[in-house]
Amino acid sequence: MTARSIAVLALSLAFAGAFAGSTVAQTPAAAAPAVAVPNPPAKPAIAEEKLPAKQLFSGVKLPSLGHAMAIGYYPRGCLQGGVELPVDGPNWQVMRLSRNRNWGHPELVKFLERFAPLAAKATGWKGILIGDMAQPRGGPLPFGHLSHQIGLDVDIWFMPMPNHELSKKEREDISASNLVAADRLHVNPQTWMPSDVAFIKTAAEQPEVERVLVNAAIKKELCRVEDKQHDGWMSKVRPWYGHDDHIHVRLKCPADSPNCRKQPPVPAGDGCGDKELAFWFSDAVLHPKPSPPPKVPPKPLTLADLPPACKTVLDAPANPKAVER
Ligand SMILES: [Zn+2]
Repeated sequence: MTARSIAVLALSLAFAGAFAGSTVAQTPAAAAPAVAVPNPPAKPAIAEEKLPAKQLFSGVKLPSLGHAMAIGYYPRGCLQGGVELPVDGPNWQVMRLSRNRNWGHPELVKFLERFAPLAAKATGWKGILIGDMAQPRGGPLPFGHLSHQIGLDVDIWFMPMPNHELSKKEREDISASNLVAADRLHVNPQTWMPSDVAFIKTAAEQPEVERVLVNAAIKKELCRVEDKQHDGWMSKVRPWYGHDDHIHVRLKCPADSPNCRKQPPVPAGDGCGDKELAFWFSDAVLHPKPSPPPKVPPKPLTLADLPPACKTVLDAPANPKAVER
């Protein structure tokens, strides 16, 4: 008997034991008749591993059961035990409800509930309008963002919350105001308000906030009007592509999330130096040459590209307390 046939026999006996009780297991191995090996269980979802992860995560409407954990990196990860930000609060309203992206790590929801009244007070606005957070289980999104995957990112609009409760349709149709002038070098005096400074500053001042991303012309204007005493908050405000009509607030990895990968700290200084800003106003950034479409389209992230725990999150039962809107 070869080693392999012994192994197969042992496996057969183990299966037979499991199905038939102890009688078969007690039969000496050498005397055992050939036992049919039951078919192994169907291989688990190999195809799933190859599907774009954005398809898998955007298809799940409710968060997973399990304690809250941000898993992986902001643009490559997922969210366990996500919670929903209520679509209306005393000082906020959530926009684009059809996207089902008002989910986050509980720290993000707590942050928004605390920040909304602070921002209202600092700006004189009635409240804030909240754009995308994360999908119920985080993960890559089918459109709109590379990050927002681990429940710690949120977009908040440059636009005061109106006095009335917006209808579902208004929440789909209204656009945030674009604060950047057509030359891309300055803020637009027609839309820029001094209260925008207070809005951004209040966000960046919060201790759990790791970065606030804005368009470079907005950062430049902040540097101009706040030319003294930055007290650390200014360094957190980072120029980034897009972000003409909203701030993107990113929270630090929470203490309960050992698999959350920290972003490198922001560089020292307030980021207001001419040299630091020059890149964003270079011709290459302001007027990028149209590049030919790639011969091979970029490969979307699959489950295999994400931390292994994300498969567990995807397969976990839904939190029965969460309600599908
Ligand atoms: Zn964003």
